[in-house]
Amino acid sequence: MRKTYFIQTFGCQQNTADSERIASLYEARGFERARSLEEADTLIINTCIVRDRAEEKVYGLVKNLREKAGSGPEDLHIVITGCLVGAAAREPSGKLMKRMKARLPDEEFLPMEDVGFEHEPKRASGKLASVVISNGCNNFCAFCIVPFSRGRERSRAFGEILHEVREAVKAGRTEVMLLGQNVNSYGADFLMEKIKEGGEYEIPGGKKVRPVIVKHLGRHRIPTLFPHLLEAVAEIPGVEKVMFLSANPWDFSDELISTIARHPNIDRLIHLPIQAGSDRIIKSMNRWYTRDEYLSLIDRIRNEVPDAEFTTDIIVGFPGETHEDFEATMDIARRVKFTKAYIAWYSPRHGTAALKLGDDVDIHEKKRRYTELDHLVLRLSGREHLIGKESAGKTL
Ligand code: SF4
Repeated sequence: MRKTYFIQTFGCQQNTADSERIASLYEARGFERARSLEEADTLIINTCIVRDRAEEKVYGLVKNLREKAGSGPEDLHIVITGCLVGAAAREPSGKLMKRMKARLPDEEFLPMEDVGFEHEPKRASGKLASVVISNGCNNFCAFCIVPFSRGRERSRAFGEILHEVREAVKAGRTEVMLLGQNVNSYGADFLMEKIKEGGEYEIPGGKKVRPVIVKHLGRHRIPTLFPHLLEAVAEIPGVEKVMFLSANPWDFSDELISTIARHPNIDRLIHLPIQAGSDRIIKSMNRWYTRDEYLSLIDRIRNEVPDAEFTTDIIVGFPGETHEDFEATMDIARRVKFTKAYIAWYSPRHGTAALKLGDDVDIHEKKRRYTELDHLVLRLSGREHLIGKESAGKTL
């Protein structure tokens, strides 16, 4: 009888894309996809640790599953993968790994590094192909666990990404979502190598890029290949729409803006996380832009791409956020008129730098700020009918 697997995925679109490659790995090992968890002999849990207490939730989930299925791996083989495993492998003290092994003695841990890109994703049905272009992040925003769970940013080979897109188009996909924690620093690692060697980077097709570090708004901007990659993907015959997620404001170059302007099949709905509207809070989040720079970027994009619309991520109640700071965030929302804002109220997260900053905004005040901002964004985007319906709020 054939062995069967089922994947339970938590978290972001990158985890969903990773699960498509995990499926491919298990099918290469001779497994068949089960229609439900109950029908599977192997369950793979692709974990997310963006929210706090994620570790306890995984222990709780496994305990419940074991109670239903039987107590040992012979009853149900459980594989834990994703960000929890990545964070445990990277934590210098080794405490998290030790705890996981003690609490999950019968479970297998699968590091995502063991699931190579040679495994062609088993995608869900539909016209969209999500394509991972980089993994990890070098930015260390104070509230974020990603640099610790996924490690430093590593770009995937340019040619390999184009190959995956072409294969997806051949298989009937017409829309492509390029995924990375910070897509617009894609290729910075390749270019930094070239700067050390004093050479040029050759893009598949022969075009050469001579990397230079430019000074922009008083800071050094790392060179990136993202505008070239985006252009190359947009020009693949059969690609009707290209989207990308997430793009950080400080790496969003003028070259990237003109690439978008030149290609009508690049999505005009751009996700640009601001996180907070006050310079003091943006700085304490360890993010490298000011509110004026963010607003000027929005203006530059709107000038060149008049039909651009923006979505964003915002955290309210970050440590030290005063009423004036929150008003600065409301002011940004009024000026930009986001099509949608993914708002979260702050809660402390183990393993992040922000933990040291305390948690001094009362939970009721956080929820009040959440509601006020949420209603403002909904009203300004013409979706006031969703007030009170779309979400009951969430913690970071
Ligand atoms: S840019 Fe900041 S928020 Fe985004 S993944 Fe990197 S550290 Fe996290």
